[in-house]
Order: sequence, then C-alpha cells, then structure tokens
Amino acid sequence: MREVFPEGARVGVLTAQPLGRVLDYLAPEGGCGLGDYVEVPLGPRRVMGVVWGPGEGGFDAAKLRRVGRVLDAQPMRDEMRAFLTRAADYTLTPLSLMLRLATRTPGLGEAPGALRVYRRGEGQPDRMTPPRARVLEVLEAFGGLSFTLSELAAEAGVSAGVVKGLVPSGAVLEEDLPRDRPYPRLDPARPGKALAEDQAAAAQALCAGIASGGYGTTLLKGVTGSGKTEVYLEAVAACLRQGRQALVLLPEIALTAEFLTRVEARFGARPAEWHSGVTSVERRRLWRMAGEGAAQLVVGARSALFLPFQDLGLIVVDEEHDSSYKQEEGVLYNARDMAVLRASLCSAQVVLASATPSLESWANADAGKYARLDLAARFGTATLPEMAAIDMRAEDTAPGRWISPALEAEVRARLGASRQSLLFLNRRGYAPLTVCRACGHMIGCDHCDARMVEHRFQQRLVCHQCGETKPIPETCPSCGVAGKLAPVGPGVERLAEEAVALFPEARVAVLSSDLFGSARALKAQIEAIAGGEADIIIGTQLVAKGHNFPLLTLVGVIDADLGLQGSDLRAAERTFQLMRQVAGRAGRGSERGLALLQTYQPEHPVIRAILTGDEEGFWRAEAEERRAAGVPPYGRMAGIILSAPEAKPAFDLGTWLARNDGALRRVGAQVFGPAPAPVARIRGRHRVRLLVKAPKGVPLQAAIAEWVAPVKLPPNLRLAVDIDPQSF
Ligand code: ADP
Ligand code: ZN
Repeated sequence: MREVFPEGARVGVLTAQPLGRVLDYLAPEGGCGLGDYVEVPLGPRRVMGVVWGPGEGGFDAAKLRRVGRVLDAQPMRDEMRAFLTRAADYTLTPLSLMLRLATRTPGLGEAPGALRVYRRGEGQPDRMTPPRARVLEVLEAFGGLSFTLSELAAEAGVSAGVVKGLVPSGAVLEEDLPRDRPYPRLDPARPGKALAEDQAAAAQALCAGIASGGYGTTLLKGVTGSGKTEVYLEAVAACLRQGRQALVLLPEIALTAEFLTRVEARFGARPAEWHSGVTSVERRRLWRMAGEGAAQLVVGARSALFLPFQDLGLIVVDEEHDSSYKQEEGVLYNARDMAVLRASLCSAQVVLASATPSLESWANADAGKYARLDLAARFGTATLPEMAAIDMRAEDTAPGRWISPALEAEVRARLGASRQSLLFLNRRGYAPLTVCRACGHMIGCDHCDARMVEHRFQQRLVCHQCGETKPIPETCPSCGVAGKLAPVGPGVERLAEEAVALFPEARVAVLSSDLFGSARALKAQIEAIAGGEADIIIGTQLVAKGHNFPLLTLVGVIDADLGLQGSDLRAAERTFQLMRQVAGRAGRGSERGLALLQTYQPEHPVIRAILTGDEEGFWRAEAEERRAAGVPPYGRMAGIILSAPEAKPAFDLGTWLARNDGALRRVGAQVFGPAPAPVARIRGRHRVRLLVKAPKGVPLQAAIAEWVAPVKLPPNLRLAVDIDPQSF
C-alpha cells in the first residue's frame, strides 16, 4: 500500500530545480501520498515536485509552507524513485537533476481539458501582421501537428496574445488536448517469421528469461544480418503476451523509421516513439500512456529510459556498443548501464544486441554476469564479406587523390555489373584542414580548441565541436596574404568530387548527417539508395549503422588508420567495431561481398584482427591490455572536468585537487592530471580534466564526493564528474 499523509502532516518534496533537494512541506487539504506529483511554493514561485517521503522534522511546523495541490498524474512508483536515487548516486548527480530527466515533458499532470492545443484551421486572419504570419508559417511547416499555447508562441517568437488573436477568424483552431486517444493495440499473438535453428534457440532462451518474471541481462551477439532483430522481437512478443511493457532503445533516430515499419509488419500496429524529433504533445501523451500501462512498446532514444512505465518487462539496447548511448552533456550517464540498473529494480530482462559488443559487455558475459547468446551466421544465403587490405605504400595513388588504383578497379567492376560500391570515410565536410600556404596558419574555431572544417556544400567553414560557422575567407587571417588558403586532406564531400571525376558515368550519393535537413529527408535518401538509385555511395559513420542495401557488394574504407592515431585506450576497440560494422554493409543479398581497407600499416594488430575476423582473439588481447593497465572494465575510472572562461583558475583548482587527494588515496585510488580535457575548449570555455583510477570494488563515488566536498566554486567555474568516461 502506498503511504498516505493526512492533511497537515509533514512531507518531504523533491523538486526538479537545479540545486533542489528534498524540502519539508505540509500535506494539503485532502492529504497526499508517497510519489504524488505536486505543485509547491518555492520562494515567490510555484514549482513541480514529487512527494519523496515523510518530512525530516526539525523545522518549526508553523513556518512550513503547504503543498499547493496534487497534480493529476499517476504517482511515481517506488521502483522509479529507487532508480532515480541509485542513478544519482552512481553518476554523482544531484537527485533533482535526475528527477528533471524523468519529468521532461511540458504540462505534466495537467487535467484533461485543462490544457488546450492549437493547430492550423481553414480560415484566414482578418488582418495579417508579421507576427501573425510567423505563427501561421510555423503551423504550415509542421503540417497537422498541435502545439500548446506556450510552445507555439515560443516557436514563432511571438506573445501568447498573438496566437489567441488568430482564433476568432478560424485561422487557428483551439482544442482540448487529445489526451486519451489510445495507441493502436499491438497483437503479440501474431506469428513471426519462421526462425532458423540458432535463432530459435536464442529466442527460446530470451523467452525463458521473460517467463521467469525476474531480472537478467543477455548479450545477443551476431554479425549484422544474422537476424538479431527477429530474435529480440520474439522476446518483445513474449513480454507483451504477459501484459508487460517493452522498450527498445536505438542509437540513432534515423534508424527508427525502418524499425517502426518492421514492428508494424510483425505486430500489426506501430509502437510509440520517443526522441527529440517527436512533438511535445505526443511526448506528453506517451508520458501518461507509459504510466498507465497503455503504451505496450516504446521505441526511443536513451532518454526513454526515464519514462514512468507501469510495468516494464523488457529493455532491448540495440547496437549496445554505440557511443551515442553515453550522454556527454548535462547529466553524464550511459544508457546501456542505466538500462541494466533500471531492469534490476523492476524485475525486467535486458537484451544487449550487437555485432561488435563493447569490451564492457563482453567482459561481463565472460565473467558470467550476463548470459550470452551467439548467432553464428548470416540469415539465409547471405555470407560475410571477404576482407582484404590495400597496402597504400605499394599503391601509386596520385597526390591529392585518395582512391587507390586497386580500389578504383574494384569500383569499376561493380559499375559494369550494376552493383553498388560504398566508399567509407569517417570525416564530414570537404576538407578537415584549411591551411595558408604562405604562412602555414590553420584556421581554427574562435571558441573551441578545434580546426574549422570546410563544407563546400554550405560554402562555409564549420566547427564540429560547437557548430559555429563562418565564410571561407579570401585572405589569411594571420598573415593577410590573399588567395593562399587551401584545403588539406579529404572529407566525404571531397571524396565525392574525386569519385565523380574518376567515374563520370556513375551516380554518386553522399550520406553524411549534416547534408540532410531532417530525418525524413535522410530516410528518403536511404530508401532511394536501397532501391538502386545510386552506383557509388560515399558515407560517414552514419552508413555503418543497420541499413540494408541489397545491391551493395563492395565496401572500400578510404583510411582504415584514421581511428588508430592518438593515445586513447579505447581507440583499438572503436576502430575494430566501426570497421567490422562498415564491412558488414557489403553483400547482405545473395552475393558475397568484398571489403577493402586502405591502410599504411597492414600488419598493425588491430587491422589484422579486422581482416581475419578473429573476434575472440581480439577481445582477449584487448582485455589483457586493459587488465594490465588497470582500466575499465578491469578497473574503475572517473573524469573530473573543470571548466571556466579562463584556463588558469580551472588549472589552479585542478592542481589543488591533485595535491589534496587524501580521500582518494585512502581507498586506493590515484589521480592523474590536471591536463587539458580531450576537447580543451568548447564554446569559449576552457576545460581541464583530472582522471581518477581505482581498482574494481572500491567505493569510488563516495571517495570522489568526499574529495571534492571542500571545493567552493567561484561563480564562473564549473565542476562535472564523469563516471566511466568514454576516452581515457
Ligand atoms: P540483424 O538485426 O542481426 O542485423 P535482422 O534481424 O535485421 O539482422 O535480419 C537480417 C535480414 O534477414 C532482415 O531482412 C530480416 O528480415 C531477414 N531475416 C532474419 N531472420 C529471418 C527469418 N527467420 N526468416 C526470414 N527472414 C529473416
Ligand atoms: Zn567551435
């Protein structure tokens, strides 16, 4: 039974304010219960909070303020409060910021009918003004979507009055929030595809986990095209048949469209979607429906983990190794790890699916913490591509060209046979560097420690850290000499130029995230390519993920050495994963594919492992190195990022922390640094990093909390803790 507090009782309420904590209030008229969403006075404002427990006491009851009202929303479940608390402890994030992740939906708790939404009507305004025109433009641009008053006004940059003024003429319709429009039912009884033997065995193991009703994590490993998706859809079906909810996380919004279509074909209806491309009206609907148990299956980005599911029975993390599961701004968390935490608290199963698992998951499976299921072969007649290196030292590639004669010949052969080739280069834009040939100056971003990248399509220089752009200057900003600025090195746009010059008869398509204004445009392009409307596809890592191009039989990696430079201990793992994924794009149809890696170091152990496909050997060697270095997954790491408009105060604080590290040393942890962070300056802020390394099993979070507790941050200095950093 939920704990209930009668009117006037002390309750502790957690608010989602930046420095919020649990504060005492008095229960309102009619009382309130544990987990209730409430509105409370805070200073001069009224803010949303959650009843977190009984009050602490200690304050004069006469001075306590009263809870304003209980909002009309499903109370937060114990499981969710435990999840937020544990996640906050793990990531060393204030609980209030965790609550914020879980309540990031506007109008939460509003009664049906209390919220009104606005959309385009048939009528014309009696009088047109520029602000009115902007409102109508926004509504046209978003088709049939509905907005709340404040959303629409904010989107159009006008006052609420302007929107209201358009209602009488019928140009804008004002309606009650369509809150209770239910989702179409998915039918988990519909039969799926007839599974191959190893698929059936894997599906059966996952379904047994679902049937147990308890927690468990399984690593589902299989090359791209082996049929992992079909397998975990069986687990989704089993979960839905039990009447529990399922969540599928995908690393990239661009992948959702294809997935939704597949789910529809399997279960007869589309699942609910949750990501940044979904309107806030839809998000609010899903937030409520998830809480009422009415959203059976949710497909979404990492933040979907914080939805208030009524009874979550399964979380699938597809492409679990993908680095986009790590949120690098605001609350720093890895959605893969948080999925495991959440599932362990609500007795759910987790499926981590990947062709190239993270070393973390591989090690957890190796240690028996996760179950492991392997799909050995590609489904049906498709086989893995043949892999080979092109030794660039032996190739006579013209200066300023990046496609070697050997690769050129293979592409040409495909053109003759109406087959597609993919040229992979993980660099957006035209050229990574713009250099003055008079003085050697390289054009950098004014706000970041990064070079500006020429984007010829946009005819601008772009900073890939902060997005700042500027025109390509005529004269060198350093020496003032005109006409000497030159692009150096290849990006996908430049590679496309080379391909067009080499193969004038071919249709060349470029797939790079910055070339598409919307997910829809990208999807259309992917479909066109799959349908055979291109001969040569030039792509960044966007193409590495999950797309199926049946006519593609050749993958050429332009620079296989690109990711191996630098001192990052994860570089080998990342390169291995990326290269295997990209190679997996070749030959998904009935013909065998070929993947060619252009490299200057064909005997490098990572390149060798990619070519031979000896994955277990690669993981074991990698694991040994990490174990010897005492780094994850065999040791623990945390980064402390200090950032400020000037570098000096950040360095000074870093130095002070490094000297006063008693709290760390007591638990056997070591601190390294301060040093410039991997990205040393972003948006005008200098970033300095300390790295903390500790043996497994030490109370690292507690030690770090104690260590940084004495720090009094001046207004401009920020300190962020990054548990399990991506690079070290
Ligand atoms: P993965 O998720 O491992 O990349 P998919 O599940 O997407 O693999 O399967 C690859 C292709 O093979 C898809 O087009 C899928 O529809 C097809 N496929 C997989 N399993 C089966 C099956 N048992 N019967 C028919 N087609 C299947
Ligand atoms: Zn920048």
